[in-house]
Amino acid sequence: MTPEEFRKNAHAAVDWVADYLESIEQYPVKSQVSPKDVINQLPTNPPSQAEPFELLMKDFNEIILPGITHWQHPHFHAYFPANSSFPSIIAEILTAGLGAQCMVWETSPAAAELEERMMDWLKEMMSLPTNWSGCIQDTASTATLTAILSAREHVSKRAINQKGFQTEKLRVYCSSEAHSSVVKAVRIAGIGDENVVKIAVDDRLAIIPEQLAGAISADKAAGFIPCCVISSLGTTSTLAFDDTQAIGTICQKEKVWYHVDAAYAGSAMLLPELTWLREGLELADSFVFNPHKWMMVGFDCSAYFVKDKESLIRTFEILPEYLKTKTHGTVNDYRDWGIQLGRRFRALKLWFVIRSYGVDGLKDIIRQHNAFGDWFAEKVNAHPNFELIVPHQMNVLVMRYVNNEDSLETLNQKNETILQQINQSGKAYLTHTKVKGIYGIRVVLGQTNLTMEHLEELWGMIIDIEELI
Ligand code: PLP
Repeated sequence: MTPEEFRKNAHAAVDWVADYLESIEQYPVKSQVSPKDVINQLPTNPPSQAEPFELLMKDFNEIILPGITHWQHPHFHAYFPANSSFPSIIAEILTAGLGAQCMVWETSPAAAELEERMMDWLKEMMSLPTNWSGCIQDTASTATLTAILSAREHVSKRAINQKGFQTEKLRVYCSSEAHSSVVKAVRIAGIGDENVVKIAVDDRLAIIPEQLAGAISADKAAGFIPCCVISSLGTTSTLAFDDTQAIGTICQKEKVWYHVDAAYAGSAMLLPELTWLREGLELADSFVFNPHKWMMVGFDCSAYFVKDKESLIRTFEILPEYLKTKTHGTVNDYRDWGIQLGRRFRALKLWFVIRSYGVDGLKDIIRQHNAFGDWFAEKVNAHPNFELIVPHQMNVLVMRYVNNEDSLETLNQKNETILQQINQSGKAYLTHTKVKGIYGIRVVLGQTNLTMEHLEELWGMIIDIEELI
C-alpha cells in the first residue's frame, strides 16, 4: 500500500467506524453465528499475491462482521462492559500510526512520561493514596499476577526468583467470589491451586474478616507462609464489596501482602460521595482497576498501583547488556514494572479520554449509570414476578423471575429461557450467575451510550418474555 493509498483507505476505514458506531443499534448485540461459520469462509491457505483493499473490506463486512458481538451496543449488558469512546478510538489510531514500542524511557520518552503523569492524574481524580506509584498493565489478570509475584518475592526475600521454590509452602487468600484470575495467577506463580484458601463469605457475599484472620493463624501454626490476600471491590458475579479496612488491618497485623481487585467498580471512585469505596485503601500494598471497563477507555488499559514501587521493580528487573541505557535509574523504565518487555503506548488513550470528557464529564456518566441501576432495581422490586436475588450495588443487578408454584429447578430453567430468548432476539445481551443454587440474570447498566430509553426498552423485553413463559 502506498502512502496515497493508505490515506484513501484509512479515511474509508474511519468512515466505516463512524457509520458503524452511528448505526450500531441495527446489529444483533450478540453475534448469531454458529461455531465454524466464520472459519469455514476463510481460505485454508494465505494468498501468495497481494489483494486489493476493497476486497479486504468486502470480506470484513461479509465474513467478520456477522461474527462480531457488539460490545459498544448500548444494549450490551453482559459480563462487564469494555467501553470505548471516540477520543479513545482516535488515540488508538495515533498509537497505531506511531507504532512505538515503549519498553523503556529511551525507546519512547513521551510514552513513559505521559504514563507517569496519567497515573498521577488517576490518583488525584479518584483520591487514591498519594504515596502510591502506578503503571498501566494490559489487563487486571496481569496486574493480579504481578501483585502475587511481588508478594511471593517479598515474603521469600527474593529467594524464589533466585533459587526457585525450596521448602516454602506459600498460601494465598481470597473469597469464594474472587475472580478466576486469582487462581490462574497462583498457578502461574508456581504456588498451586491447593494453596489458594477460599475464605467464607457473608450474606452480602463479602469476605468474613474473622474467617480470614482464623485461616491465616491456622496456616501459620501448620507451617505455611501466608503470602498474599486478595479482596474485591466489586465481584464479577454480583458486585459484592469486601471490607477493605477490616481485611487491610488483618494483613498489616499478619504482615501479608494485600492486593485489592477493583477491576470494574474502581472507576466509581471518581465519585467523591462514595467515600465508603475508598475506606482502608491506604492499607493495600497493590490495587488494580480497569479504565477499559467503565471509564470509556477502549480495551486494553488496566491501572495498577503499588505502595512500594521498589519491591515491584526488584521482582521484575533484569538488565542484560543490550537493554542498558544511560538514563537507567533516573527515569521510569516500565519494562521493570511488570511481565512484558515490549509495551504498547496505552497512556495516550487515557490522556485523550480524560481531557475530552473532563473529570466532571466522566463523573456524570458514572453517576448516571448508578442512577440507572436504582431505577431498574425499583422496577424489579415493584413487579410481583421478579426479584433481586442479592441487593443491587451501583449499576449491576442480579434478578430473576419468580412465582409461588414452581420448584427451584423449574424457576432456574425459566430464567435461563428468558435470558436465552433475549440473547437470541439480538435486541440485548445479558449473562447469568448462580448464587446459592439460584439462577440469576445479571443486568449491567454501564455501556458508554446507554440512555433512559434503552432501560425502558430492556425492562419491556424482560416482562414481555415473562408473559410468554
Ligand atoms: N477481576 C474482576 C473483579 C473482574 O470482574 C474481571 C473481569 O471481568 C477481572 C478481574 C479480569 O479482568 P481482565 O479481563 O482485565 O483480566
